[in-house]
Amino acid sequence: MTKTMTATATATQLRMSLFPTPRCPDCGGPLVHGEGCVACPVCGFSRCYT
Ligand SMILES: [Zn+2]
Repeated sequence: MTKTMTATATATQLRMSLFPTPRCPDCGGPLVHGEGCVACPVCGFSRCYT
């Protein structure tokens, strides 16, 4: 509804396109993206991309 929300959604889509693996390989849960890393809040899995 606001320009700020649109900008945030665009940034999220760009970030997800950089890391096209949003699923945890251990439990299949949704991964949370950090600074070059992804983490699973369900089982504690984490992986960093170099
Ligand atoms: Zn997991």
